[in-house]
Amino acid sequence: MLTQTRLRHDLTSLETDEMTMRSDDALPSVKEILAAESIVVVGASEDQSKFGGRLFRMLLRHRFKGRIYPVSSSRKELFGVLTYPTVAELPEAPALAVILVPRDAALATVQACVEKGAKGVIVVTAQFSDAGPEGAEIERQMVEIARKGRARLWGPNCLGIISPAKRLVLNSSLALDVDHLVQSPVGFVSQSGALMATLFDKARRRGFGFSHMISVGNQADLELCDFVDFLLDDPDTEVICTYVEGLQDPARFRAVAAKACAKGKPWLMLKSGRTEAGAQAAFSHTASLAGSFRAFEAVCEEHGIVLVDDQDAMQMLAACLVRYRNRPFRHLAVMSPSGGSAALACDRLSEAGIPLAQFDAETDRALKTVLGAPSAGNPVDFSASSPGVVGKAMELVARDGAADAALCLITTAPVLDQTCAAIADSAGRDFPTLFVIHPGESADTARAALVDRQVPYFDSFDDAIRVLKGWHAIGRCKPARASQDDERPAGLTHVTWPVGEALGEFETKAVLESYGIPVNRGSVAKDAEQAVRISAGLIFPVVVKVVSSDIVHKSDVGGVILDLPDAAAVGDAVRSMQARVRKVMPDAVIDGYLVQEMVGGGTEFIVGVNFDRDFGPMIVVGVGGVLVELLDDVAVASAPVSPTRAAEMLGSLKAAKLLQGIRGRAPLDVGALSKLVSRVSWLASDHRDRLVELDVNPVLVRSNGGGCVAVDGRALLRDLPAPKLNVNV
Ligand code: ADP
Ligand code: MG
Repeated sequence: MLTQTRLRHDLTSLETDEMTMRSDDALPSVKEILAAESIVVVGASEDQSKFGGRLFRMLLRHRFKGRIYPVSSSRKELFGVLTYPTVAELPEAPALAVILVPRDAALATVQACVEKGAKGVIVVTAQFSDAGPEGAEIERQMVEIARKGRARLWGPNCLGIISPAKRLVLNSSLALDVDHLVQSPVGFVSQSGALMATLFDKARRRGFGFSHMISVGNQADLELCDFVDFLLDDPDTEVICTYVEGLQDPARFRAVAAKACAKGKPWLMLKSGRTEAGAQAAFSHTASLAGSFRAFEAVCEEHGIVLVDDQDAMQMLAACLVRYRNRPFRHLAVMSPSGGSAALACDRLSEAGIPLAQFDAETDRALKTVLGAPSAGNPVDFSASSPGVVGKAMELVARDGAADAALCLITTAPVLDQTCAAIADSAGRDFPTLFVIHPGESADTARAALVDRQVPYFDSFDDAIRVLKGWHAIGRCKPARASQDDERPAGLTHVTWPVGEALGEFETKAVLESYGIPVNRGSVAKDAEQAVRISAGLIFPVVVKVVSSDIVHKSDVGGVILDLPDAAAVGDAVRSMQARVRKVMPDAVIDGYLVQEMVGGGTEFIVGVNFDRDFGPMIVVGVGGVLVELLDDVAVASAPVSPTRAAEMLGSLKAAKLLQGIRGRAPLDVGALSKLVSRVSWLASDHRDRLVELDVNPVLVRSNGGGCVAVDGRALLRDLPAPKLNVNV
């Protein structure tokens, strides 16, 4: 171990080196680090109760092809491998160093490894930034040492790597105590080290593996995106899986996601923190509807990253994509011996948004003949048909071309193994057939027949749905979308917001209007008399609303009176409103009364903006009005969006049918609403340095051709940090 004096001396010499330091690009890449032909393990032992003991044994057990140097001050050899008392005494510069020493010795060990010439330093030792500010400071110094020595730090507090592709195991899990590492072209990068070995273990049972599994730890230097970027270029990886808790560098994340999209490598994402509430939920509806998870979800969708529900679905989807060579999946065929099972499944598939394939009439006829059934179609009910007949039916389905995959729901029946084998064989190797095997042990021979053929099966319908949902979402990224959304609508000028933090309806609508957004006419009165005078210049009926910076939701305190037919009604409304608000909120300061035109008819939508700390301004649109939180039906995207993209957002709402016109009602003016959403999104984009939240609720949308009008608005303004955007990889 280095002494304090020595460490200080080395830091000084490295500082001089800094003069000749090249740019960041010259730092070793993950690829270079993983190409290591020599590894030093500091803190290696034979003791299997210790991380260092287990990790070192796994490294040897899986026969890493390069040279291995254990460093131990107490032992001459470990498992027959010669040790070195210090890093400095190694016979060569190790390309990769793994550090498992106690926390207090970690910094000096990083220093020694970097000085010896290691390109990558994996610090398994924990208790740094994960333990508090003191640890964070040591972690910062580790990075500094690595930087100065042109090395990359990996971790600390990480569980290394399991790489069947490189035959490199630097992980201490006993799940690795196996003879053979199964390799599949799936890479996994994880913010949870434990999840990595767990997935490895589970996949193995189905004969499935990974290319590289990487634990990122505290991401002090190398971070998740560095590893994903590596996997994108890695010839051994076709599908990328990640487990993410939070992002280090959201701009980099976007850039890497765009690269994945351009390369067509599917990226499956498991994300924790779904239930985290919006940060400023109290001010606007938008913030409570568009919390940080929704923003993350939106950015993933924009870049074609597929969010999955759980780790098993992620792994099974990856397995399916590999098995069927990333074949796109749009429409599904359902096959079952049980009409009931098939019908239940179809309901669930429809809820999950997975469309059933519509076979050609010719196929339907042929299926009828083959199955001897009075009618046939999708779902295919093959009842108690023999394996041979079921196989023929499968052949017809695969040949039809309307279905991209078949889901076979298996219930108890004789010769299940032969039936499953016949389906799998007749479908052909490339046509995706997925099985849900409902029975228990009695169907184990069927499961074995599928494992033999490397055909994926699930034990529950829910598992299958989760995978199919993810698969269906793959390939939806449109790299062209970004450029289309860059087109600023003609005539939009940048407007400055009035001074103040929380702006009420009147000021907010003035800004909206300057962005070409239709608002209803109105003015603020001090008292009933002035309100009456203002109403004379408006078209009746009119509306009176309380103006007060102490009141967030006006109608909650009786601060909105609609449909006032004449001047006398306006005067009465102001007086009664004053009395009511004083009673309900005696401390609220009333600044005046907004008298405005009433907008007749129209369906209520909410359009809002929420500034996300990772991704900047997000535009939100959904079903509005007073029930907005209860309905929770919104679509979220990064601002700005084009009217076309806004229309897509509207189409994705549960209430999309409302827009198309239901129960004999005319379709709503989607074109006008899309234009409004796009304009609000440009407003958000222009004011990304100040606009924290904006609620335009409601926008009243009339039937086609009738346009839409914003009748309420509020905004929260504050100086915001500039998020780094549009960084290229
Ligand atoms: P708040 O959201 O602060 O309670 P709003 O101004 O949104 O107050 O008014 C509450 C409800 O009253 C709206 O959701 C809408 O249904 C209706 N409303 C408000 N202003 C108008 C208007 N000018 N024309 C028609 N309906 C209106
Ligand atoms: Mg409102």
